[in-house]
Amino acid sequence: MFRKFRILILLLILLGVSVQTWLIDARIGSWESTVSVGIYPIAFDDSPETARFIDELDVESFADIESWFQDEFKHYGINLQIPVRIVLGPRVMARPPALPQGKPGIFDAIVWSLKLRWWASRHDDLGKSRSVPQVRLFVLFHPARDGEVLPHSIGLDKGKIGVIHVFASERQKRQNAVIIAHELLHTFKATDKYDPITLQPIHPHGYAQPDRQPLLPQRAAEIMGGRIPISLTESRIPAGLSEAIIGPATALEIGLKSGDQ
Ligand SMILES: [Zn+2]
Repeated sequence: MFRKFRILILLLILLGVSVQTWLIDARIGSWESTVSVGIYPIAFDDSPETARFIDELDVESFADIESWFQDEFKHYGINLQIPVRIVLGPRVMARPPALPQGKPGIFDAIVWSLKLRWWASRHDDLGKSRSVPQVRLFVLFHPARDGEVLPHSIGLDKGKIGVIHVFASERQKRQNAVIIAHELLHTFKATDKYDPITLQPIHPHGYAQPDRQPLLPQRAAEIMGGRIPISLTESRIPAGLSEAIIGPATALEIGLKSGDQ
């Protein structure tokens, strides 16, 4: 009985957010005005180092993401001064609902995404004078330890929410921007262009220069391909957004016209 009641509540929430999502989607896909993107930092651990790192964040910390979108969009004929504006939200003290373990069924995945949307609506306040941004990215900062592997980040088109894992480290800041831009593009409907098992970018759409001779090594990454292919079996994470581009297939998915063709 209680489970049925919970499902009913979740369905009602879904109905409410669906209407809201539809309105936001229609505006974002046209790229006629700036899209506001909120970044809400969350400390993954209780260490003073992570807390200090978050305290020292400001919008400047994410300026390379804004300017990268501006440059890339210009390439596809979008001359908006600022296509994507990053707004820094307050530090969120709660954690987003955990992803279901293993390979979740469709039902579990839907319940989880509704829980996440509900949770996001409780933690997205920017204060009195600022309205809720169109895209909300909850960024979990992990202590930077050698060899540590970060959990999988996600960006959801439905609800325009991201849950992103990065390192709380000055040295990793430029690489963090790559991860944030990748997940942000998922919220704009871009799809992954790499093999989920090997993590190798898939040719041609996951390559920055699919026609390059010789093809390998590549010099840059297609942002949804995620990595720079070095050989058929090796690739590396770009050091920063200056080593990444939006390829024509991704551009088409997010509603830009394919400028290269
Ligand atoms: Zn992805």
